[in-house]
Amino acid sequence: MEIGIIGTGAAGVSLLDALSHLAPTSASAAAPGGLTVFDGAPQPWRGRAYQSDLEAVLVNAPPVLMSIRHGDPEHYLRWLAEQEPRHPADPWLGVPLVPRAVYGDYLEATAHEAIARLRRGGWRVEVVEDWVTGVAPLRTSGGTTRAVDHTVLGVGGGSPRDQFRLSGQPGFVLEPYPLARTLAGVPADARVAVIGSGLTAVDIVAALVARGHAGPITLLSRQGLLPDVQQRLTRLELRHLTPENLPGSFAGMVALMEAELAEHGQGIGPLVEEVTMPEHPVKRLERQLAEVDAPYMGRRLLVAAVHMLGTPAWRRLPPDERTMLRTTHLRTVTRMASPMIPGNADILRQLFDSGQLGLQAATPRIVPRGGGFRIRGLDEGAGDLVADVVVNAVNPPAHAIPQDSVLLADALRVAGAVSLPADGGLAVQSDDVHVVGAVAADTSFVTPSVPALAAQAQAVAARILSG
Ligand SMILES: Cc1cc2nc3c(=O)[nH]c(=O)nc-3n(C[C@H](O)[C@H](O)[C@H](O)COP(=O)(O)OP(=O)(O)OC[C@H]3O[C@@H](n4cnc5c(N)ncnc54)[C@H](O)[C@@H]3O)c2cc1C
Repeated sequence: MEIGIIGTGAAGVSLLDALSHLAPTSASAAAPGGLTVFDGAPQPWRGRAYQSDLEAVLVNAPPVLMSIRHGDPEHYLRWLAEQEPRHPADPWLGVPLVPRAVYGDYLEATAHEAIARLRRGGWRVEVVEDWVTGVAPLRTSGGTTRAVDHTVLGVGGGSPRDQFRLSGQPGFVLEPYPLARTLAGVPADARVAVIGSGLTAVDIVAALVARGHAGPITLLSRQGLLPDVQQRLTRLELRHLTPENLPGSFAGMVALMEAELAEHGQGIGPLVEEVTMPEHPVKRLERQLAEVDAPYMGRRLLVAAVHMLGTPAWRRLPPDERTMLRTTHLRTVTRMASPMIPGNADILRQLFDSGQLGLQAATPRIVPRGGGFRIRGLDEGAGDLVADVVVNAVNPPAHAIPQDSVLLADALRVAGAVSLPADGGLAVQSDDVHVVGAVAADTSFVTPSVPALAAQAQAVAARILSG
């Protein structure tokens, strides 16, 4: 059997790792085969999120939620425990939260081990440093071709779009990562505007602070919502929110959540209030920072449910409920499902307190003016904002096809292996093509976390090897 894996981010590494454990070896009845891994990025095995960057750019989840190996939540923790120097526990969450580049080291080490394991089992493994642009056979932009029986896309969600058409303007940063490079030229007293107020905006603020930034920073976003603040993890033994119990409606999911909370002697009221209560985002941030250790389980259970059961639950929902969640509740679900780490929330709180950081809920118009930018369309009374530097923090929408995979997606469509639904993403139409990650059309709009990717990768590896 010949397998092609396109993409060497967390999805590609997780798949390699799963294959290396499930694949037949020379000693088994089925014969080992060949595996070719493709990526044109300059730093393989890290994807967009975990490349070399500033120390202040941290992983956004406790180690037990960062294992790349499905079914082995301690895998990353074991690797981390062997690293020198030791990483101290985060004072808020009580577990180490390392720079994302260190997590990239983990991905790289895991990939190399998986390749070595496969080779020991008799598999031929080859890494091709190029972009895949064609199929049947897989073809790269540089002309390499490989005939494969199974193609797996782990191509991620791509990089940001230039919604304000500012590319090329001095002082404008479209792709913020790696922040070590993109913020390097920003003077400490510069007036910085950040487009967006989600996790990427939080990364940018934390990185600016780490670089000693003293100038004003303004976050601009349509809804003016900040991500929720993570709570200290407690042991979750889910009795009702399980894959076997998943219902076919949103009301059914709420009922499961209610039943799960009842196991803790708690009601669903405070969670409903979290979802529906209008609250100023900075007030919410302050309140949630004070609730990092609070015993109420509602938000913890919601995050666990979204990331552990999100995809199968999403597939069961009727189309009108999916549309309702994707349109009316997109921002609320996103802020709650992917909360920021408390240490970053505390940085934001201090900057809001001192007045160095501002948050504007607006659909701004940004025009280059006199070596900087004039930003219009802000809150009434706020007037125009002048910025020296504008940094984009808006990531591509859910299911966007990465720019580096547009040709590949089209080749797959022409070959009849996928369709491109109007809502975005790739809908697979062939038993020989598989997708792991954000571009799969049948996943929800929440950016897949590491455990979600690992579960998908394990399922794809099992499907390929059973066929
Ligand atoms: C900035 C950021 C931080 C995050 N932090 C966390 C976190 O702390 N914890 C967490 O659980 N989740 C986090 N996530 C969510 C999730 O873990 C990441 O999105 C995850 O790394 C995605 O991995 P991926 O392999 O699907 O995609 P990517 O990391 O985007 O990797 C895709 C790879 O495919 C390659 N590729 C694309 N097209 C082609 C092609 N045609 N040919 C060859 N190669 C191609 C790209 O070059 C890239 O290397 C974060 C996401 C982002 C964007």
